[in-house]
Amino acid sequence: MTTFLTIYFFILGTILGSFYNVVGLRLPNGELFKEERSYCPKCHKTLTWYELIPILSFLFQKGRCRNCKQNISPLYPTMELLSGFTFTLSYYLLGWQLELLLAILLVSVFHMIIVSDIAYMIIPNRLLLFFFVLFLIYRIIDPLTPWWSSIIGGVGGIVLTAAIILASKGGMGGGDMKLFGLLGFVLGWQLLLVTYFLSTLIGAVVSGVLLATGVIQRKNPIPFGPFIVLGASFAFFSGRMIIDWYLQTFF
Ligand SMILES: [Zn+2]
Repeated sequence: MTTFLTIYFFILGTILGSFYNVVGLRLPNGELFKEERSYCPKCHKTLTWYELIPILSFLFQKGRCRNCKQNISPLYPTMELLSGFTFTLSYYLLGWQLELLLAILLVSVFHMIIVSDIAYMIIPNRLLLFFFVLFLIYRIIDPLTPWWSSIIGGVGGIVLTAAIILASKGGMGGGDMKLFGLLGFVLGWQLLLVTYFLSTLIGAVVSGVLLATGVIQRKNPIPFGPFIVLGASFAFFSGRMIIDWYLQTFF
């Protein structure tokens, strides 16, 4: 049963991941609700069902469009694979419990944030607002202990980031501020602080390596959203892993 469900969550993750790619890429430029079917961004040919199978289509077509033979961005299969992996990880770590729903919601919004922020340097307001409503409902059903940790986390995330933006004159933007507010609300103030610590650490290390290897120049800004969601994922899941390890070892 566990094997079946692990495979199930992986496949579900890749299929939804494929959808999240589309949302992340279309939401910022207002194309999401045009009801257009998926098309090749280079030659605009409408894609058929067998060109839309997550990961596999990319592999079978050797990373090229069947029509115009131009390269398909490796961001698509990478994110589909990552989505399959994070869905499986969520199920593996949490099992069947209410918090699995929270984990799925989190990795879903994180996926769309990464795609949008890498492609446009934007974290769409509508995306954050939509998920805020979902998280609000979730936290009414399953509140943090104490419940006001959500309030302190939410307000703290916004105020702290606003202070950083003012002090550093750039580096982080308004989208990052709202994202930290959302994360503080969902995870509570303790995990918000862990997220802050981890995301700035990961951000500093990764941008340091990219600068040193000449992949990016100091003058072009890099999106900070992916580092925030990476830090938040570690905070959310490793907190759980440490608790699990503790319970298994000592009880
Ligand atoms: Zn094409």
